[in-house]
Amino acid sequence: MTFQRAVPKRLSLEPLPEKFAEHLRSFAFAGHDSVDMAAPERIDIESPLLQQPLGWVPKVGADATCAAFRAARAVQPEWHQLGVKKRAKIISKFHDLVFSNRELIMDLVQLETGKARAGAFDEVTDVANNARYYAGQAPKLLRPQKKRGGMPVLTKTYLHHDPKGVVGQISPWNYPFSLGISDAIPALLAGNTVVAKPDSQTPFTSLLIAHLLSVAGLPDGVFTVVIGSGGVVGTAIAENCDFLMFTGSTATGKVLAEQVSKRLVGFSAELGGKNPMIVASDAHLDTAVRAITHACLSNTGQLCVSIERIYVDQDIYQEFCERLADSFRAQKLGGALDWKNQVGSLVSAGQLETVEEFVADAKRAGARVLTGGKPRPDLGKYFYEPTILLDVPDSARLLREEVFGPVVYIQPVANVDDAVAAANGTCYGLNCSIFAAPKTAWKLAPRIHAGSVNINDGYVAGWASIDSPIGGYKESGVSRRHGAEGLYKYTEPKTIAQQRGFPIWGPQWLSQKSWSKVLWRSLSLGKKTGLLR
Ligand code: NAP
Repeated sequence: MTFQRAVPKRLSLEPLPEKFAEHLRSFAFAGHDSVDMAAPERIDIESPLLQQPLGWVPKVGADATCAAFRAARAVQPEWHQLGVKKRAKIISKFHDLVFSNRELIMDLVQLETGKARAGAFDEVTDVANNARYYAGQAPKLLRPQKKRGGMPVLTKTYLHHDPKGVVGQISPWNYPFSLGISDAIPALLAGNTVVAKPDSQTPFTSLLIAHLLSVAGLPDGVFTVVIGSGGVVGTAIAENCDFLMFTGSTATGKVLAEQVSKRLVGFSAELGGKNPMIVASDAHLDTAVRAITHACLSNTGQLCVSIERIYVDQDIYQEFCERLADSFRAQKLGGALDWKNQVGSLVSAGQLETVEEFVADAKRAGARVLTGGKPRPDLGKYFYEPTILLDVPDSARLLREEVFGPVVYIQPVANVDDAVAAANGTCYGLNCSIFAAPKTAWKLAPRIHAGSVNINDGYVAGWASIDSPIGGYKESGVSRRHGAEGLYKYTEPKTIAQQRGFPIWGPQWLSQKSWSKVLWRSLSLGKKTGLLR
């Protein structure tokens, strides 16, 4: 099989491209005996940035996915036996490799997604953040924890965290590097092996991840990439995994939830959002506008936590709209492997069509375009202008549905109570942002129904606070990533308790009746004194 590449010279950075290509071939198909290597189906990848072929990858099916699971299951006990400290060393080395190969990673991510360099920088930073945090924390978090025993002194109790087994990961195209590995890092550290399916549009980044992990010392079969369609490979993952980590749309999340639930297998889902922002009358507009522009346009708006609706106090509405429109118009759009552009391309023709349809529907319903509202074929096939809509009526689909593009609407509100009600008024609850004087914002934040609330920032403050879990309320998700929760979800907590002296149900030298009185009295006393709290 040949790994064909038609990529710019820039990809010829270290590690050597031939070695890399060779590695991709072997790693992607490690353990896949059933793949017909002579005549595989293939997926052709076109770069939205270059608008030319980037290469192709062989497409696997359900049999190959099952084979990947068998291989991952076979090596999992050994990987667990290695111990968390040695696993952490490998992840720590991976962290260093991510930094030393950052230019290569950012090039590849930009080529596959069309995003601006800043978006690719976010991915590198996020992965490094996860690797550093979990490599440091996992040995502490996974240490057996002494717990209060059933009977003071006489019961010795420890909590252990066993790995689930083989974790299946399904990830989307919008952050192929970050979402291709960040959630797998705690799974690996907990002693699981991982079978990962990237989106079919962005497979090369996942193959580079596998390559870097291998260079860091990860044994074969511990992290395997399977590339194929969601309906086939994704379903096979749901049918074989011991835990599912899914990131993608709410619609797919619901399908997968049904599949894994039938097998009573746990899952974590990071899904869609329609994230609101509240701008109160005491917000500092000078600093807010730059941050809000970033929150709406990062990754060309193709970001689960980016802002798509803004509720502004009516007293500052006019001024705010003008300033934000000026800021949107000043953004530099373009596609190149450098830092000059602030807003990149959308990922595909399909994504451009979705954005155009949402805006056309809103306009038909009576919405007004304050700025943007048009594709930019002069810059590339899938470019779309940063867009602000006003007066969006109830009947417009984008009022509540996720656009996943550089489109935001602004609505005036009479006061912060109305803003909170509007912010909470959707089926989603992923992220919310509040621009206000800190005193106002900290009062509003607890009233928001979302997994993260960012004060005087769009989404980065919460996302980067990796010690604290994030995820979705309502239809935005199940379970959490980051923090201890992001590690423990990949484990089976196990209580080991040893009884010493005599059993809790009574010593031999006392009748059951007398023992019951002693026990009840002790329990009451324990509550009164606070000793048993
Ligand atoms: P999607 O259609 O759900 O696809 C995501 C992944 O699921 C892809 O790998 C896809 O594979 C696979 N898939 C599709 N159908 C499947 C099925 N029936 N069974 C199993 N797997 C299946 O999501 P998308 O629309 O491309 O991605 C954008 C969405 O993801 C947005 O809603 C965004 O908000 C959400 N997202 C959420 C987060 C978060 O952290 N909350 C982060 C990023 C994105 P193929 O495409 O290869 O078929």
